[in-house]
Amino acid sequence: MIYEKKPVKCTRSYENSTARPRGEKLLHECNIGGALATNKTMQRRDFLKAAMGTGVVLLNNQPGKAWASAKTAKKLQVALCGLGRYAGYLADGIAESRYCRVAGIVTGTPSKKIGWQQRFELPDKNCYSYETFDQIATNKDIDLVYVVLPNGMHKEYVIRAAAAGKHVIVEKPMALTADDCREMIAACRKAGVALAVGYRLHYEPYNQEMARLGQNKIFGPVEQVESALGYRLDSGDDWHFKKALSGGGPLMNIGIYCVQAARYITGEEPVAITAQFGPVTRPFFQEIEESIGWQLRFPSGAIAESKTSYGENYDRVYVQAKNGFFELSPAISYGPFKGRSSTGAFHFPVTNQQAVQMDAIAAVLLSGGQLPAHISGEEGLKDMIVIDAIYKAAANDGRGMLPR
Ligand code: NAD
Repeated sequence: MIYEKKPVKCTRSYENSTARPRGEKLLHECNIGGALATNKTMQRRDFLKAAMGTGVVLLNNQPGKAWASAKTAKKLQVALCGLGRYAGYLADGIAESRYCRVAGIVTGTPSKKIGWQQRFELPDKNCYSYETFDQIATNKDIDLVYVVLPNGMHKEYVIRAAAAGKHVIVEKPMALTADDCREMIAACRKAGVALAVGYRLHYEPYNQEMARLGQNKIFGPVEQVESALGYRLDSGDDWHFKKALSGGGPLMNIGIYCVQAARYITGEEPVAITAQFGPVTRPFFQEIEESIGWQLRFPSGAIAESKTSYGENYDRVYVQAKNGFFELSPAISYGPFKGRSSTGAFHFPVTNQQAVQMDAIAAVLLSGGQLPAHISGEEGLKDMIVIDAIYKAAANDGRGMLPR
């Protein structure tokens, strides 16, 4: 739904994919090649230093270690829970990955089951409905459940997956509220399973570079982050427009990436916000916002100015630092990305974002390691704290302070 409005040339279509609804454009597969997101031009030492120094946001912070210790013989066995549009992208990414395989599915639509079973050679016993899902607890073929359902269903299915003893990845936004995120984190901790949020950009070289330049103050302290992500929707009849299932409009769906970018570029958590809903110009925005803008102030004094919309197309992140600038546009979609700084253009590998993300997570879990903080449930919670506060400030038409 998000990125269909920004077609790019692809080397392969997915018309034949059993995993994807017909008629959608394949975007990220321009990246196919299965290359790992090993951004060799990036200085890993800078990443590690940032991790140790701030303990805040760091993207892909221990790649070498994780890869070296991964057992290539064993693959992480993933059950996709929800077989909609993005599950199709994930399935293609997993098919390209080295360390994962689609080993199971959870779906409420029996007609989808056959195609997925054929594509991934899934036995009946690895295919669940939402009603039979809890039986996954006794299935040794499944290591991890990837929850790719409407946002309002994330909490229930993460908690049920954890109770079944399975590691969990949940799509963004992690849940509808910060309090729901806290419950999910507690459930996974109690069950002793890993919980990650599907933050694909944390393994994407152009976005990793933005984080490195900002956190390491390569152009001096960050002064301003401007980010905008929007696309125009001309009809509105699916779950995204129902607040109980989406939690909100473009802020929940795509604006969350702007919140993320501001946090991982500054390496800080905001301390104050202002926010404003945009005008409602079309009838299908009854329950959710059509657009929203917000401003975050960080402890260093950096300001982030962001907007997101279902009425306009934009995709960019621009950072002004004391001694220079750096920017991406496109910045957040499935790529390919384009970026530059005041010293020249960026040239990084084009990656299959979903394959790289899944391989990085699998490498850690297969080697018995702990997932890095920057993709953890706590990271998802931090975004939701900010988003809760943005909505609150916009609704009050005034300023909001973030909880410390
Ligand atoms: P989708 O509508 O294409 O798929 C949703 C799936 O949930 C469908 O298979 C549907 O049958 C199932 N479902 C079960 N109960 C449902 C209900 N009550 N109402 C509606 N659907 C129900 O949505 P999607 O675009 O695949 O999004 C799923 C999740 O993935 C969302 O949380 C979204 O934010 C996230 N997402 C992430 C990215 C990314 O780039 N990381 C991109 C797109 C979507």
